[in-house]
Amino acid sequence: MVSRHDTTAVDIIDGQTTADNTVARQADKWSRYGDDRLREECGVFGVFDHADASALTALGLHALQHRGQEAAGIATCDGTQFHLERRMGLVGDNFNKQTVIDRLKGRSAIGHNRYSTTGDTILRNVQPLFADLDTGGFAVAHNGNLTNALTLRRELVSSGAICQSTSDTEVILHLLSRSKKRRIVERFVDAIRQIEGAYALVGLTDDMLIGARDPVGIRPLVIGRLDNAYVLASETCALDIVGAEFIREVDNGEVVAITKDGIESHRPFPKRPAQPCIFEYIYFARPDSIINGRSVYDVRKQFGVQLAAESPADVDVVVPIPDSGVPAAIGYAQHSGIPFELGIIRNHYVGRTFIEPEQQIRALGVKLKHSANAGVIRGKRILLIDDSVVRGTTSKKIVQLMYEAGAKEVHMRIACPPITHSDYYGIDTPSKEDLLAANLDNEGMREFMGATSLAFLSINGVYRGVGETGRDSLRPQFTDHCFTGEYPTPLTDQNGTEAPRQLSLLAEVL
Ligand code: SF4
Repeated sequence: MVSRHDTTAVDIIDGQTTADNTVARQADKWSRYGDDRLREECGVFGVFDHADASALTALGLHALQHRGQEAAGIATCDGTQFHLERRMGLVGDNFNKQTVIDRLKGRSAIGHNRYSTTGDTILRNVQPLFADLDTGGFAVAHNGNLTNALTLRRELVSSGAICQSTSDTEVILHLLSRSKKRRIVERFVDAIRQIEGAYALVGLTDDMLIGARDPVGIRPLVIGRLDNAYVLASETCALDIVGAEFIREVDNGEVVAITKDGIESHRPFPKRPAQPCIFEYIYFARPDSIINGRSVYDVRKQFGVQLAAESPADVDVVVPIPDSGVPAAIGYAQHSGIPFELGIIRNHYVGRTFIEPEQQIRALGVKLKHSANAGVIRGKRILLIDDSVVRGTTSKKIVQLMYEAGAKEVHMRIACPPITHSDYYGIDTPSKEDLLAANLDNEGMREFMGATSLAFLSINGVYRGVGETGRDSLRPQFTDHCFTGEYPTPLTDQNGTEAPRQLSLLAEVL
């Protein structure tokens, strides 16, 4: 018989291989050099009752690496002990060693890929986070961002809480520890009733795997089955890599508690239609994932079809900006009948080691990642297709690259509307003054990029691409506020309460 209190014994292994810092810094550096994208923040994964729980979790996180490259962590429980390994850097660089997997004992596990929007890139912010509660140990991992975490943290600290990280997610552990409910799942419900914002959560106790989605359903979470085990993951591509069968999505506002008796579903919030983040379709999710029954790849092709219908162009060839512009460019070419060609070749090894000299690399800029396929470009009127534009810096450099390769005209078509508002739900968006479309009209953006013509897909075009007849302006079917400015939840922390310059006095040196 395992007495509850024995289960709080935990060993935490935090570490970094030599390359970690370099990878993190490189990732940051290259984003400056050529990757003008919104950045999704984090992927989560969980397994309940499987002999290879930790190895499966490492595989699942690997499949979700596109949701966060800064750091990763896995927590397991073997019924008497929790085991936690957290590392800076990529999953494949840290969880590919048998010794690490062997240390992560137990038949249940949760894991997390991190891309920081809240909390510095420091080890103690790497998830899963763990706490000893009087009900036993509890590990939690979170995709999304809480819009009242600062306010809650302030209240918690002023009433004696001691925070171990600067992550918004930690408030959930404090709220859990203060709940007066008896069962852990009831305490969990108590805690999430007090948080706002976007969250897909996985939690682990010594005998339960918990999954939850915020009442709006902004961030995705799915349930799978692998033999007798249950799997939770941010995307279906993570179910595919471990061979798990897709069961269903966790509904918006639902908490699932998975135990030896199966799945227990709780719905602690008033029922409301889901409004998932539309950008998961536009850019974040992997093309081979299925969201809400729709293939992400097919939806992106449909964005291209809608774009061709809305904004035709008299050109010789359609050229995608790889990789995320490819499906929409195929859709555009198929609908318009204009030939599709890979006029830009992407170097997939940009993240790997690259030594200074700084200035020379800075001058290379976008060429480190993209090069012109001159045979396709020279003397042609080309149409570039990209999935989105944030600051416009990459678009400008790629238009220049096309002219240098001999293009006669360079037209741009963007498979989503102009991004005019920042995100508070777990996406790393620049502030408004850095968003190109928040500061320039279409003609201004065309001039900035140096393009012959420029057009964005309309918001209704995006909704038609996802299979709707159009956007329901009274009750939008999706969260789309980076285009519309209509935020689906209160933004408590943004309402006048000045975010403290430094959340913690402990400066951690990596
Ligand atoms: S602003 Fe809204 S729609 Fe845009 S990425 Fe964020 S959650 Fe998604």
